[in-house]
Amino acid sequence: MGLPIEPGEPTALLDPTLVLNRSWCAVHVTTVRRALGMLCRGSVAVLDPESLTPLGADAWLDRPVADGARAVRTPSRLIPAPEIVLLGRYDRLPVSQAPFTRLSLLRRDDHRCQYCGTRPPHAQLTIDHVVPKARGGRTSWENCVAACVRCNSRKGDRPPSHVGLRLLRTPRAPRWTPCFQLMPGTWPESWRPFLPDARRPSTGT
Ligand SMILES: [Zn+2]
Repeated sequence: MGLPIEPGEPTALLDPTLVLNRSWCAVHVTTVRRALGMLCRGSVAVLDPESLTPLGADAWLDRPVADGARAVRTPSRLIPAPEIVLLGRYDRLPVSQAPFTRLSLLRRDDHRCQYCGTRPPHAQLTIDHVVPKARGGRTSWENCVAACVRCNSRKGDRPPSHVGLRLLRTPRAPRWTPCFQLMPGTWPESWRPFLPDARRPSTGT
């Protein structure tokens, strides 16, 4: 059963909620709306970030909302927005693939030219097709890498090996989504303990 949520109210419905699996590993980021739906169906418990106690729907929905905390307004009350939920015993969420965007790709490549390893300013990082488009190369996670302007123009429409360039690593689709869905700095502090170091948002470029 869904929650009777008031349309048009300013709410945290589309804010992010981190989904942990049974081993408390981050597997997904969903919206507060979906997290509350899963909570009402009994598929997840909300993890109280302070006490690290999993709370079921009854306990969570009756909680008072702290001043300034994110919340969702229903016709009868305010419900605190869950920041972290835990999947139940028998539930699994498929790990969806990161959206293929320039930003996602640059993040996957650590904002580093995949040929020479430099980290130029963002505006000077290009997306290079390893197998050039002119030779049938696809626009995909496996065929696109971050490249500095210098390496990209040196390469031109040729395969890297033809111009003495080598990839630092084989490009692959990232398997883990959360960090790709959100801009750095927008992660709730409560997520930090559950995110591996490499996946934490960096404050620099
Ligand atoms: Zn380069």
